[in-house]
Order: sequence, then structure tokens, then C-alpha cells
Amino acid sequence: MSLAVGTQCVAKKDHKKPKCGELLYYKGDLIAILSKTMKEGIYLARHSSTGEEGLINATELRERRAIQVNPSLSLMPWFHGRISGPEAVCKLQPAEDGLFLVRESIRHPGDYVLSVSVSGQVMHYRVIYEDNKLTIDYHTFFNNLLDMIEFYSKNKGFIATRLLKPKLKAGTKSAELELAKSGWLLNINKLTVSERIGEGEFGAVYVGNYMGQKVAVKIIKCDVTAQAFLRETTVMTKLQHKNLVRLLGVILGKELHIVTEIMEKGNLVNFLSSRGRSVVNVSQLLQFALDVCEGMEYLESLKLVHRDLAARNVLVSDNNVAKVGDFGLTKVHSKTSDNAKLPIKWTAPEALTKQIFSTKSDVWSYGILLWEIFSYGRQPYPKLTVADVKEIVEAGYRMENPEDCPGEVYSVMGVCWEQEPRRRPSFHKLRHKLIREIRKHQRNLQSA
Ligand code: ATP
Repeated sequence: MSLAVGTQCVAKKDHKKPKCGELLYYKGDLIAILSKTMKEGIYLARHSSTGEEGLINATELRERRAIQVNPSLSLMPWFHGRISGPEAVCKLQPAEDGLFLVRESIRHPGDYVLSVSVSGQVMHYRVIYEDNKLTIDYHTFFNNLLDMIEFYSKNKGFIATRLLKPKLKAGTKSAELELAKSGWLLNINKLTVSERIGEGEFGAVYVGNYMGQKVAVKIIKCDVTAQAFLRETTVMTKLQHKNLVRLLGVILGKELHIVTEIMEKGNLVNFLSSRGRSVVNVSQLLQFALDVCEGMEYLESLKLVHRDLAARNVLVSDNNVAKVGDFGLTKVHSKTSDNAKLPIKWTAPEALTKQIFSTKSDVWSYGILLWEIFSYGRQPYPKLTVADVKEIVEAGYRMENPEDCPGEVYSVMGVCWEQEPRRRPSFHKLRHKLIREIRKHQRNLQSA
């Protein structure tokens, strides 16, 4: 196997007793390839959590692959939606003890049914939804279906047999299998979770430790939401850039755990508003603007549209590097019909009115983000409601220059807010503009 420099790999086995110059690692450890050696198949590599460098044989490694963004990837491949009892019976043929599926109840909307094959028959268990919990026997209660299936896979409990084999819905792929095959499935036993550092709309974010490395862990409890987050995760497996928050892996189980690099200084809005202009100078603001622009230029090169670029979704590392995160809405496609979730104040007019999303609509959002940076984390269009903003922006209104913001930076915002998407610059061009601005700013500082 030949490995390119920079490839991220997962160790297939333990290597507990390394010889001189070799790397020590355990099965599942994350390892980055640094360079080839003179010897075929032997590489110099760095252990991602210990930071140690040493030699490793390529046969001991599995390359981490990007996962194709695939809507058929499912956390619940055994969930068949709304089908009748007789249909479930048909699907569970030929009979096999423990073969099961879950469906939505037709007779009792809102409830589920667990259909399971045992001794040549199919048994149907109504899953009752009560007080936000699921139960079959009013004795054992579960937060979600994933939780319930996991329990009955291990314990027979009230039902006739343990659940041994899921009947996969046609056209779906098991997310667990796919993540494991591509090297992104982490081991929950190696993760410890400590204090909560943030709260998203669908789950909380915690500080964690994965095999000695400090990480951030987003825990999503609800199974339907977890399914949606799986898409964010598959997008993240494709991305590797210094200005994008890096995915380390995923843990599936009772809840979905998304493990990413830790960004010690939190999100950019809080970072700027809590410190203010007496602590954060214009050079630092320009650097943040450039960091985000470089991350976005990388997405642009992959033809990926972020669709939710805003300072709240930019995180700051311990050494003040800004990185773009929250890829929940990122898509290759440029059309969407789901308008409800759009962050109006950040969204370009053509995206709001015609649902046309493109890199150029991300550029509009980047202009808003620049405004947020130079106003130290203020809410855009202060004092205006979301409905007003939609109307007046369409009519040509644009925000004023934030206090003390260099004129050139404000003119960059201006070109990002061109009504006509074609007239907005690419991120590639924006980066060059910003670099020029940073140089000019440095010269001014020196001559002052
Ligand atoms: P969503 O809408 O996708 O649930 P969100 O944008 O509301 O998400 P999260 O991504 O869940 O927010 O993050 C919530 C907060 O947790 C962030 O604002 C940030 O303060 C913190 N946080 C998130 N990820 C990290 C990380 N990798 N390192 C440090 N802090 C983080």
C-alpha cells in the first residue's frame, strides 16, 4: 500500500513494544503520515494524540477515506417508515429468529411497531410514545429508538427473542458500517466527557478526552436529529484545512457523539464581544478575516456551499486561529426548499427569494461576518427585525461602516453585498484583497 504525505490513518493492531525508532500505538489510534523512507512500505508518521514521531509499516494502517455525502446513509437502517403489518411480515421472509424491523404504526399514529421474526412467526410489539419516552411493556423506558434497539439486542426482556439481525430498508446503508469501514468510527470506551462548554440548538457541546487528546464532543440525543447531523459529519470527513474545524470521528450508540478538535477560545462572537477593542486590535481582526476567507476559499475549491456562514459558527483556537465550523447546512447542490432554517440576516437576497445558494451567496454572508468582526461581535442590522431586513436589503439598503473600521475593509463588505451575485468577488480574490490590506496596515503601524 502506498500512502501520500499528510494521509490520516487508523492503526489496525496494537504495537506495544516498538523497536528503536518505531512508533508506539494501539488499535484505533489516529496516525498521520509525514514522509516516505528508503524502505518500501515503511513511513515516518506522527501519532495524533501523543504527538510522537516514528516509523510505521503501511500494512498496519487503514487509510481514512472521505465518506460520500449520501442521503441513504442511515443511523436506523432497520426503520421502514409507515408500512402495514402484512407488509412487515413479507419483508421479514425468509423467517430467521431475531430478524427485525421497526415501522410507524398506521392504526396508532405517533407510535411505532417492532416486528420480529421468531420460530417461523412474526410478532408485532407496539411501541408506545408517552411523556417523551418509548416503551413496549410500561416497565422499561427509552429516550429513542436507537436506545431501544440497542437494549433488546442485548436483552430479551419482555419480547420473544433478542434482536439479532436488522432487516435493512432497501436503498439504505448502515451508517455504522460505513463509518467503521472508512475509519471514522471511534471507540466510546476511550472517550471521557467532562464539562459542558456550549449549547447548540440540538445538543450540548462538552470538553472531552480521547486517548489522551483534549477534544470537543457534541452529543445529539434525539434519533431523528442525529440522522440529520450524520450529513454534517459526512461532509466533514471530506475536509482537511487549517481554517476548518477538524472532525476526529464519530461514536454511535445511545446518542450520536461528534468528536472534533477543541477550539479553546469558543465562538468568534463571544470572543470579540467579551474582549472588545481595548484587547483585540485591528491586526487581529484582519487576521481573523483572512483565516475565515482561507477556509472558505478551500470550500469554494471543492464547490461546497456552506450556507450558514456567520461569526457564531466560527471558532477560535488556543493560539487565536479562526476556523469555520458547523457544516450542518453545507451542500454541493445550490437549491433547497427548506427556507425555515435560514439565518435571514446573513443570507443573500437571491437565496432568500429564489433559494439560489452558491459560493457567491456564501460571499454575501462573509461580508456580514466581516461586519460582525469589525463591530466586535454585534448583531448585524442592530435594532431591525428579521422581516424588516429582508425588505430593506432587497430595496438596496446596506449596513453602515462599523466604528473605526478601515475604509478598505468596508469597501470589501460593499462588494460582498452586490445585489448581483456575479459581481461579488470569489473567496480567492477576497483573500488577495485582504492580504494587501494586512500589508498596508502593517506598513502604517511601522511608520506611525
Ligand atoms: P447547531 O445549530 O448545529 O446545533 P450551533 O451553531 O447552535 O449548532 P454548536 O455547534 O452546537 O452550535 O456549538 C455551540 C457552542 O459550543 C458554540 O457556540 C461554541 O461556543 C461551543 N463549541 C462548539 N464546538 C466547539 C469546539 N470544537 N471547541 C470549542 N467549543 C465549541
